[in-house]
Amino acid sequence: MNHLIDIKNLKNEEILEIIELAKYYEKHVPEGTQRKKQKGSVVLLFFENSTRTRFSFEMASRKLGLDVFNFEAQNSSISKGEGVFDTLNNLNAIGCDIAIIRHTKEGFIEELARKHYAYELSLVNAGEGKSSHPTQALLDFYTLTKHLGSLDGKKIVIVGDITHSRVAKSNIELLSRFGAKIVCCSPDYFKDSTLKHIKYEFDINTALKDADAVMGLRIQKERLENQIPLANYIKDYQINEKNMPKNAILMHPGPVNRDVEISSALLDTKGDVIIEQPRNGVFVRMAVLDIIFEGVQR
Ligand code: ASP
Repeated sequence: MNHLIDIKNLKNEEILEIIELAKYYEKHVPEGTQRKKQKGSVVLLFFENSTRTRFSFEMASRKLGLDVFNFEAQNSSISKGEGVFDTLNNLNAIGCDIAIIRHTKEGFIEELARKHYAYELSLVNAGEGKSSHPTQALLDFYTLTKHLGSLDGKKIVIVGDITHSRVAKSNIELLSRFGAKIVCCSPDYFKDSTLKHIKYEFDINTALKDADAVMGLRIQKERLENQIPLANYIKDYQINEKNMPKNAILMHPGPVNRDVEISSALLDTKGDVIIEQPRNGVFVRMAVLDIIFEGVQR
């Protein structure tokens, strides 16, 4: 694996290899990467805001003994007009082996990966526009299998702003490949008509019935073309103490807008898995970086 750009590019065996290695890292503090003891450098380039993903990649890199650099676009040559490819090529020449990128534009990281770099450079997608967030899907898969075992036949309900959510897209791609029965629940204005093969349910009580896991999504304010009727959304689509099935696990990629997508009361009584997700994210990202690093040094 040289890059991690989209779940679509990973075979099921590769996904399972990441999960196995993440399990190892959950139990063991590494002295270097598991594959080889080596130094390496990672640069984080985030063109959109982030807390969890950015800290998680930074923590994962440090735990693997990698050098990690944060690139601040506003204080860099990008502000002088340099394009991202030229910046990356120079960072690569300076000694960065992996660039972890978050960007607003769909397909941007794939475009960057097709260019020619002076030295070997691996790219990792840390969230791209509304289309993909592969490491979030991997950590959600890790978390789900820890709680539910095999996902074959398990009902996973994704509630909220499906249209603008990269988390939903990557999760749908990954979880359905492992047999999960995905149900999307949203008002019509958040329905994604490109997801033709996915079951849609407009009524939240019907959607959540017999769910094994419920995944809330944040309303992506920064990507909305039109205002939405927020009070109605909360009334009809908030996950709360009344509609949440007792035995299901509650997930959310964060950040959670309390009392919008999930009620505070539910978050405070059933939000333990939501806090476990970012923890698991570190192990999963360690595994991803470790597997890529072997590729870089080969
Ligand atoms: N943190 C996730 C993302 O970057 C979810 C969100 O922002 O709502 O896509």
